[in-house]
Amino acid sequence: IEYKKHYYPKSRTQLLTVLKNSLSLKRYQHLLGVEQAALRLAKLNHEELEKASVAALVHDYAKERTTTEFKKVILEKGLEHDLLNWNNVIWHGVVGAQIIKDELKITDEEILNAVRKHTVGAADMTRLDKIIYVADFIEKGRTFPDAKLARTVAYADLDSAVSFETKHTLQYLMSANKVIYPAAILTYNKWVVEN
Ligand code: GDP
Ligand code: FE
Ligand code: FE
Ligand code: FE
Repeated sequence: IEYKKHYYPKSRTQLLTVLKNSLSLKRYQHLLGVEQAALRLAKLNHEELEKASVAALVHDYAKERTTTEFKKVILEKGLEHDLLNWNNVIWHGVVGAQIIKDELKITDEEILNAVRKHTVGAADMTRLDKIIYVADFIEKGRTFPDAKLARTVAYADLDSAVSFETKHTLQYLMSANKVIYPAAILTYNKWVVEN
């Protein structure tokens, strides 16, 4: 896929070079897997392929940054103070979007929002938000027991996949006595609870 609309200022090939040089091989391969899944979901759901590609390729760009760096960005950019109480799992999306904006010069708010929401989702998700949230869960490197079922659901119906993933994640967090980020509960209430 050739970048024509410049959601990223340079070519896809140049973006891949930046990613390869700044991340571990494991993370780089995950980004390529998420891009492949996101492009397939974008075709099925009539989303712009270039947006899906850029969002997928950068969604975990900040995942390998240190606690110190995230705290510095939160303070310097005036992000909400409550974020200081969380950790890399939550920061790499919400705070990572700011790092992506500053370092990669990506300014499209739809792409940045998809990155912000990719870990815990949200009650309101755009088509692009859903594609990145789901592609991250089903990419070919994911090997958890329900991954195959998640792929089948995702390629049949995107909203059902958001629901499936949210339920799976919340069930896992509760079974392991993990802290739940409040926004994850809002995602659950919107996408899993039946009214
Ligand atoms: P990755 O960055 O590609 O690994 O994928 P994600 O950004 O989706 O992060 C996935 C991890 O976040 C999984 O281990 C989830 O269990 C965890 N996670 C998602 N929501 C929450 C939450 O509300 N609380 C905690 N503690 N972990 C969460
Ligand atoms: Fe992530
Ligand atoms: Fe995810
Ligand atoms: Fe990811």
